[in-house]
Amino acid sequence: MGNLLVNTRDQRFVLFEQVGIDKLFKIPKYSKFNLELVDMFLKEAEKFAVEVIAPTFKKSDHEDPAYFKDGKAHAPACFHPVYKKFVEGGWICPPAPEEAGGQDMPMSVFTACSELFGAANYSFFMYPGLNLGAAGLIGTFGTPEQIKKYALKMFAGEWAGTMCLTEPGAGSDVGALRTTAKRLPDGRFSITGTKCFISAGDHDLTKQIVHPVLARIEGDPAGTKGISIFIVPKYRVNEDGSLGESNDITTVNLEHKMGINGSATATLNFGENGKCIGELLGKEREGIKIMFKMMNEARLSTGMQGLDSASASYEHSVQYAKDRVQYRKIEDMPNQAAPGVAIINHPDIRRSLLWMKAHVEGMRALNYYIGYLIDLEPFVEDHEEKEKLEDTIGLLTPISKAYCSDKSVDICSLGMDIHGGYGYCQEYPMEQLLRDAKIATIYEGTNYIQSLDLVGRKLGRKGGMAVMGLMGQITETTEKAKGVEELKAGAEQMEAALQAVNDLVMQLGSWGMSGEFVLPVLNARSVLMILGDMIIGWQLIQAALIAQEKLQALLKKAGAEGSPDKVKALAGENDEVAFYLGKVASAQYFTVNILPTLKGRCEAIKLGDRTPVSMPDACFESR
Ligand SMILES: Cc1cc2nc3c(=O)[nH]c(=O)nc-3n(C[C@H](O)[C@H](O)[C@H](O)COP(=O)(O)OP(=O)(O)OC[C@H]3O[C@@H](n4cnc5c(N)ncnc54)[C@H](O)[C@@H]3O)c2cc1C
Repeated sequence: MGNLLVNTRDQRFVLFEQVGIDKLFKIPKYSKFNLELVDMFLKEAEKFAVEVIAPTFKKSDHEDPAYFKDGKAHAPACFHPVYKKFVEGGWICPPAPEEAGGQDMPMSVFTACSELFGAANYSFFMYPGLNLGAAGLIGTFGTPEQIKKYALKMFAGEWAGTMCLTEPGAGSDVGALRTTAKRLPDGRFSITGTKCFISAGDHDLTKQIVHPVLARIEGDPAGTKGISIFIVPKYRVNEDGSLGESNDITTVNLEHKMGINGSATATLNFGENGKCIGELLGKEREGIKIMFKMMNEARLSTGMQGLDSASASYEHSVQYAKDRVQYRKIEDMPNQAAPGVAIINHPDIRRSLLWMKAHVEGMRALNYYIGYLIDLEPFVEDHEEKEKLEDTIGLLTPISKAYCSDKSVDICSLGMDIHGGYGYCQEYPMEQLLRDAKIATIYEGTNYIQSLDLVGRKLGRKGGMAVMGLMGQITETTEKAKGVEELKAGAEQMEAALQAVNDLVMQLGSWGMSGEFVLPVLNARSVLMILGDMIIGWQLIQAALIAQEKLQALLKKAGAEGSPDKVKALAGENDEVAFYLGKVASAQYFTVNILPTLKGRCEAIKLGDRTPVSMPDACFESR
C-alpha cells in the first residue's frame, strides 16, 4: 500500500484469498507457478510501474506527447527508455507460451500486473498491450511460417502490433468497411483502403509495426460475413527475416485528443500507390471470427483500463482527504474557535471515498475473476462444463468493458470533486485521470455496442442459461451471507435485487419472443448497468464473507471481539484488521446503498416507455 496507484494488498486478497488462483497451479501449464512466485511478480510489476512508468504520466500528456512531424509519427521521447526496459524486464508477453518467448503466465496474474502498469500511465501501456494482442492473434491463427516471420519478433518486443478495424465510414458498424483485398498471383493480397483512429498505428518505438487489418476480398459478400483478416507489415519482410522496402502504408496524421496523449492514434492509408501487400490470416471470410479473439481480450483490457484509472483516482483521493484541512468537525460547527480538520472527517467525503473504494474493489474482483475463468477454460474437459464457462466469460466480458469504463469516469470525477478546485487544475493528477479514462467508454466498441451485445446475443443465448447460472451462484453466496450478522442486511437487499433482475430478464425474453425488439434495444445500457451492479455486489459479498471470518479470528486473538472501541483502536495499529474491516465495510455500503436501487430501475424498464423512439424527430430540434 501507499504507492498512490493500486491497493496491492487488495490485489493479493482477490488473487489468493477470493479467486484462489492456487487451484490453477494443479494444471500442468501453470505447475511452475506458486503463490510466492506470483507475489514476486506482483512486487516486480509494482516496482516497475512506480519507478519507471509513473514518471512518464504527466510528461507524456503535455510536455512530451506522441507527435507527427515531417510525415513521421513519434511516440513520446520519455517512452523510449521505458519501452526498452519493459522489453528487457520480460514484461512484453508474460502470458505467451514459453516456446514463443513468454512465460505461460496465467491471465489472472498478468491482469493484476497490468493494473499496476495501466494505473501508472495507460497511454504507455497501450503500446505493449496492443502488441501482445496482435502477436497472440497471429500466434493462434497464423501458419507456422507466419508465426516465425511475425509473431515471434512481436512476442520478443522487437516489432509492435496494432488492431485495424475502424474506417471513416465504418465505426460501430464494422460490416460497412470499404478496405479491399485484391488477390495476387502468388496467393498474397493487394490491400487498399483507409483505417482511422488506430492506436499505436505509427510510432518509432520499434523498427517494424505489424497491422492485423480487416478487409473484404473483391467479390466477397457485403456485411461482416464477407470480411477477412490480413497481416500487413509497415515494411516488407525479406526471406531471411530482415526488413525490406516500405509496404506503401501512409500515415496521414495523429489525432489531437482529450486524453491518452502519449498514445499515437493514427489514420493510415493502405496502398495509395497500389503496392501494399498483405497475407491472409486464417481462412477467407473468417476475419470477424478471428478478430473477435483479439477484441474480446481488448474488451477485458478496456474494462481493466477503467479499473486502472479508478484505482489511481481513489488512492490519490484518500491521500488528499487525509492532508487537506478545511472546516471544523460537524459537531464543532457552531464553535468558530474549534480547530480545522482534514476533510476525511466530513461525512460526505467519507461517503464519496467509500463509494469509490467499494466500486474499485468490486471491479478488481470481477476482472481478475474473468482472467481466472479464461485461464481455466482451455483445460476443462467436460464438454458441457466447458461450454458453460465459455458462455459465462462471454456474458461477463461486455459487462466488464462497459460497467468498469462508465464507473471509472464517475469515480475519477468524484475524485476530482474531493480535490476541490485543485482537482480541476494540472498540478494534481485528477484532471488527467478523468480525461484519460473517458476514451474507455468509446473504443473497443462503444458502451452502447457492448450493451447491445449483452442484450441481443448473450442474455437470451441457450434460453438464458449463462445469466441464470450466474444468478444461481449469486444466490448461493447470498444464502451464506444471510447467516452472517454483519452481512445480513445487505444479503436481504441482494435477494430482492435478484428477484427484480430475474423478472426483468423474463420481461426482456418475452418482448424478444413477441418480436418486440425496440424495448430491449432501447434499454440495453440500463440493463447492462443493472447486471453490473448485481455482479459487483456479489463479488463484494463474496469478499466480505472471507474477510469477516479472518477478521473474527484476528479480533479473537487480540481479545477485541464485541467491543467496537477496541476494534477501532486495533484497526489503527494492525494493518490486517484495518484491511479486513474495510472489505466488510465495502460490501455493507454497496449492498445497502446501491442494490436497493435495482428494483426501481428494473421496474422503470418494465413499464415499457417508448417516448425516445415514438417522439417525432422534429421534437429533438431547438426552435
Ligand atoms: C483514441 C482512440 C483510439 C482508438 N483505437 C482504435 C484502434 O486501435 N483500432 C480500431 O480499429 N479502432 C480504434 N478506435 C475507434 C473506435 O473503436 C471507434 O471510435 C468506436 O468503435 C466508435 O466508432 P465511431 O467513432 O465511428 O462512432 P459511431 O459508430 O459513428 O457511433 C456514434 C454513436 O452512435 C452509436 N451507435 C452506433 N450504432 C448504433 C446502433 N446500432 N444503435 C444505437 N446506437 C448506435 C454509438 O454507440 C455512438 O454513441 C479508436 C478511437 C479512438 C477515439
